[in-house]
Amino acid sequence: MPHRLLLPLLAALALLPLLPGFPPFWVTLLCYAGLAALVALGLVVLTGVAGLTSFGQAIFVGFGAYASAILTTRHGVSPWAALPAALLAAGVMAALIGALTLRLRGHYLAIATIAWNVSFYYLAANLDLTQRNDGISGIPPLRLGETALTEARAFYPLVLLCLGLALLATRNLLDSRVGRAIRALRGGALAAESFGVDTYRAKLLAFIYAGLLAGLSGWLYAHLQRAVNPSPFSLTMSIDYLLMAVAGGVQHLGGALLGALLVTLLRDQLQSLLPALLGAQGNFESIVFGLALVMLLQGAPQGLWPLLMRPFARWNGPRAAATPPPAAAPLPQRARPAPGTEILRAEDLQKRFGGLVAVNGVGFHLEAGEVVGLIGPNGAGKSTTFNLLTGVLAPTRGAVRFLGTPIAGLPARRIATLGIARSFQHVKLVHGMSVLENVALGAHLRGRAGALRAALRLDRAEEARLLALAWAQIERVGLAAVAHLPADSLALGQQRLVEIARALCLDPVLLLLDEPAAGLRHLEKAALSCLLDRLRAEGMTILLVEHDMDFVMSLTDRLVVMNFGAELAQGRPREIQRNPAVIDAYLGSAA
Ligand code: ADP
Ligand code: MG
Repeated sequence: MPHRLLLPLLAALALLPLLPGFPPFWVTLLCYAGLAALVALGLVVLTGVAGLTSFGQAIFVGFGAYASAILTTRHGVSPWAALPAALLAAGVMAALIGALTLRLRGHYLAIATIAWNVSFYYLAANLDLTQRNDGISGIPPLRLGETALTEARAFYPLVLLCLGLALLATRNLLDSRVGRAIRALRGGALAAESFGVDTYRAKLLAFIYAGLLAGLSGWLYAHLQRAVNPSPFSLTMSIDYLLMAVAGGVQHLGGALLGALLVTLLRDQLQSLLPALLGAQGNFESIVFGLALVMLLQGAPQGLWPLLMRPFARWNGPRAAATPPPAAAPLPQRARPAPGTEILRAEDLQKRFGGLVAVNGVGFHLEAGEVVGLIGPNGAGKSTTFNLLTGVLAPTRGAVRFLGTPIAGLPARRIATLGIARSFQHVKLVHGMSVLENVALGAHLRGRAGALRAALRLDRAEEARLLALAWAQIERVGLAAVAHLPADSLALGQQRLVEIARALCLDPVLLLLDEPAAGLRHLEKAALSCLLDRLRAEGMTILLVEHDMDFVMSLTDRLVVMNFGAELAQGRPREIQRNPAVIDAYLGSAA
């Protein structure tokens, strides 16, 4: 069955419960599954895509639900008018909690969200505003004209509509400039920062987005249940949401739907079945769920959705060949400094790692249009020097000026805005993202569209220009044939070319390439050499770390040689080749 039949099929299944004979009890269950799916969808963005684990999503469901409950019961606000307030409450709380928590990493973040959820629960259970453990009852139903949406059957279409819109918005968000930044958070944060992405903001954005979806779910809950009390917003529920997302497939939008559906339906069935089977009362379903999850994660660590989709992939046959994105108006370009003007000067750069001085008093300058090689034995401090120039590391001592601006110690994303782009010796591409998308991440600073424009699909004109730019750079490095493959499926040499294409998207004044020819075959090296020559002709300044001496000597105008962190020599390639100290330390007598 081809992929394009999948969506109509799912839509038809989702509409089945509206048929007259469908048992009302099941429609009610499906409503609750839909509400849970909204929260799980947020977790796909937050945990599956951005790699941030939250055990606190029930907080934001709670804020959405309580905000609407309080406004409608106490202030006479209509339930529809309370929706923006519910979203605002959840969104603002997510922003606050996120701002206070997201600097934490890994387990600490997860533990902090647990603490927040426990506090929220006790707060809701003890405040007069939320009417303590009794909760708020008598919440008015949603109305459409004269009809009140009190029956599950009447409510269900609204759940479907919200879920459909949320799916669409999430798809749009992830498939955009901001979406690439969010997708780069898991594993590619350093590279993203080097191309101007504020990764802290991207994290906060993912957190707020997930909070908003949870808030929407809470608003629906308040008017479906028509009563709220603290228990559905406890830590247990947050764990359940995460369980749904993980079981369904936390990296897939469909996984959120599948997980929410399965866990909601199974829990209900087991709750009545297990006590009958075992002849005793108790929450046995929790034990069964725990065991099921462990087994599932052993057998299908990516969740059930990819398993379910496997037959579709088979029917689809091999992936279509790469096609260029539609042509678009070119983006404005940076002014280039006149050839020969000094663009960068590094003075007395030093970097200590504890007792090790990796870079020790290095100084050099670069002129516009030059190709300069930075060479030296392994461990000489070349990559560290790159990191100091690009803001990945702050120097212990020393100064760097780029186009007149002091840049030593600035964050990488600030330096990127000034026009320095780089590749990494240890390739840093975002796994699971295509070559085209990885390269487009380099164009981050050349677009403006934010999350809202992306979610509403109002960013298409700009996105087309970014993708056309990325495609042009991919063609330039000779990878057009593989542009639609996952970047991590390429050979290492080709991944280095992807990094160069990504760097070119920034429209840099200065390009820093760390061992770009390592892993390339002979012909690929020749092609790379041609490319760098062409870039030089276009006025690009290039600083190059490379061990292939034929490659370096034929390409560079000047060389800076490092050894044990210190500067050993500087000069033209011919002079360096004859320099006894350099021959001794690095080139060997063969040179
Ligand atoms: P090169 O690129 O010239 O091979 P590097 O700049 O990568 O050399 O490394 C220079 C020295 O600094 C090496 O001894 C390396 O082990 C050390 N080094 C590099 N990065 C770090 C780090 N983040 N922490 C500690 N030591 C480091
Ligand atoms: Mg290195």
